[in-house]
Amino acid sequence: MRTYATRKRILVTGGAGFLGSHLIDRLLARGDEVVCADNLFTGTKRNLYHLHSNPRFELLRHDITFPLFVEVDEIYNLACPASPIHYQHDPVQTTKTSVHGSINMLGLAKRLKCRIFQASTSEVYGDPHEHPQRESYWGNVNPIGPRSCYDEGKRCAETLFFDYHRQHGLDIKVARIFNTYGPRMHPNDGRVVSNFIVQALKNEPITIYGEGTQTRSFCFVDDLIEAFLRFMDTEAGFPGPMNLGNPVEFTIRELAETVIELVGSKSTIVRMPLPTDDPMQRKPDISLARAKLGGWEPTIDLRTGLGKTIEYFRALQREDG
Ligand code: NAD
Ligand code: UDP
Repeated sequence: MRTYATRKRILVTGGAGFLGSHLIDRLLARGDEVVCADNLFTGTKRNLYHLHSNPRFELLRHDITFPLFVEVDEIYNLACPASPIHYQHDPVQTTKTSVHGSINMLGLAKRLKCRIFQASTSEVYGDPHEHPQRESYWGNVNPIGPRSCYDEGKRCAETLFFDYHRQHGLDIKVARIFNTYGPRMHPNDGRVVSNFIVQALKNEPITIYGEGTQTRSFCFVDDLIEAFLRFMDTEAGFPGPMNLGNPVEFTIRELAETVIELVGSKSTIVRMPLPTDDPMQRKPDISLARAKLGGWEPTIDLRTGLGKTIEYFRALQREDG
């Protein structure tokens, strides 16, 4: 536990969201102070409600496309809608959040001379021709499709981070996050894990897009956040990018069948059209993370992680009636 003398004040943008709220829990648990900046677009105060009387926590309602003046020792930049439904709702704002938002947060880090972490994404690889994806792969991304506001926004953010690093000597850490799931996902965000669980709990049809043969590799949130903290503490001069995720790959049909079984649901499976530019396969090569993060490995398998997530959505349903 850090003390008054050793603790840091840390800014987490997007901290009211799924990943951000788990990150904040870990930072506070180890004794740090946290300032969360979030415009509450997809995040919710419910994710932070348990912290409201914690004297080391502060929530600012703030849109990072506007400048922010705070004094902190480290920044985690997570603000950005992450699910296709949310990021396609206002695609111009999505690009602005990645590009203007990054410029603002990088400017802040430059003034403060502090380390800054960027939540980038496996989407920078697009529909990949290399499998599994290594950090050296440049990707196969459509620049003008419905996913481009997110994919290209995040790619431009990476460019900005690396240019601030080269041009201004800024201490950056760029993580490419692969599909992550767990408690506090938004129940209506349309992402596959939350969709399938909510549908299964209601005994409604499970919607598989396309054949269900497309693959994803799902990481449980606790494993991911552990990697964030370790990456942030790697030596200066190691900027990444670094893949973070779980390399065990499943088809979407396998995921649907596992969710139905674990929920004990009467749901049937229905097929829907595959969205435009939906990647066919996704699996991280995590050799770099294994080597640099002190033997870090995902430890929670899909069935265990789904069990915890199902429990969360069950409780949410009870609360909301
Ligand atoms: P989320 O939607 O739950 O959280 C994003 C948060 O950012 C929300 O609280 C939202 O209100 C906030 N936000 C959005 N635009 C903002 C703005 N302009 N100013 C301030 N706050 C803003 O999503 P998440 O899954 O927690 O994702 C967090 C980050 O991790 C995102 O940057 C996302 O791109 C990245 N990521 C997530 C995954 C995943 O599987 N969850 C995978 C790859 C990358
Ligand atoms: N998907 C699906 N049914 C759903 C939601 C998603 O079959 O109800 C598919 C989607 O087409 C994609 C995969 O699940 O192939 C993962 O989708 P998600 O939006 O969770 O993540 P991303 O495509 O960004 O990896």
